[in-house]
Amino acid sequence: MRQTLVMGNWKLNGSKTMVRELISALKVPAAEAANVAVAVCPPVLFLGQAEAELAGSRIALGAQDADVHTEGAFTGENSPAMYQEFGVKYVLVGHSERRTLHGETDAVVAAKFAAVQQQQLVPVLCIGETLEQFEAGETQTVVERQLQAVIDACGIESLQHAVIAYEPVWAIGTGKTATPEIAQGVHGAIRAFLAQQNAEVAAGVQILYGGSVKGDSAAGLFAMADIDGALVGGAALKADEFAAIIRAGT
Ligand code: 13P
Repeated sequence: MRQTLVMGNWKLNGSKTMVRELISALKVPAAEAANVAVAVCPPVLFLGQAEAELAGSRIALGAQDADVHTEGAFTGENSPAMYQEFGVKYVLVGHSERRTLHGETDAVVAAKFAAVQQQQLVPVLCIGETLEQFEAGETQTVVERQLQAVIDACGIESLQHAVIAYEPVWAIGTGKTATPEIAQGVHGAIRAFLAQQNAEVAAGVQILYGGSVKGDSAAGLFAMADIDGALVGGAALKADEFAAIIRAGT
């Protein structure tokens, strides 16, 4: 039985005040949704403050990206080993904004996935097709290529200690959520693809949906057999909206 996981990806948003107020507002809804796992991924600068504010709550901490190195002359980067010191549990890897805006290839994403796991943190592997690829009917080919790059580098068993987030690029920040049926179609196909390589891994791995998830669209998505939660962007910045998504998972 896979637990529902609701994660907020704050992207480049936040302030000290917002971290304090938003986390404080989420504690009760997270406590009440005892069967739903909840996590927030603030910008890296706020990890320390978020760790302190989250103390004693059920909400886990995540980071939005990681370097492949542990330490050294890599100006501007942050390593999984550093995240460990701040109580981080999850690290997003391969978010479409990293792939598109920072040129991260499948190979780079796989290396980041491995680096995160080496520090016993849980990578959240983000995959998904662009609008052009969606319209060309290439969704499955694209997500399988993105998954296989990680499987080739780290082995299929590595997905036992990871989360997959399917985020169609055309649904991110556009207000166009994939319908539950479209999303389920892709999630089911992802699980079937993994099952060809290891049935146990396929049955156990949480596959989140991401892309314009809101309080009123979450329940329909979560009702689908292979949708195990959500990776939420814009709606994760509003306490009421994110709380509604958490409640939809109960
Ligand atoms: P939105 O929920 O704003 O569409 O963002 C989704 C996302 O990219 C989460 O990682």
